Amino acid sequence: MTSVPALADGRVTWSLSVAPDCELAVRAVLAWDALARQSPGRLRPCANDECRLFLIDHSKANAARWCSMAVCGNRMKARRHYQRARNA
Ligand SMILES: [Zn+2]
Repeated sequence: MTSVPALADGRVTWSLSVAPDCELAVRAVLAWDALARQSPGRLRPCANDECRLFLIDHSKANAARWCSMAVCGNRMKARRHYQRARNA
C-alpha cells in the first residue's frame, strides 16, 4: 500500500494505491484508525452480546451502549424486563 500525492488548487491530496483485492480492508483499517485518533473512546462494540455491530458515540455523556436504540436497546430492555418479571 502506498499513498500517492496530487496537487490541485494549491492543496495536496493523498490517494491510496493498493491492490484491488486489499482495498476494502485497507480503507476499513484507515477509517477505524482515523476515528480512534479523532474521537478516542467513542468507538465501541454494541453492549448486546448477540450483536456484532459497533457504535460511534456522539452523546455528550459518552454513555451510549447500543448500536441502535430501536433494535438492540429495546431488545435488551425487553429482556431485562422479562427476567425481572420471571424472578419476581
Ligand atoms: Zn447492537
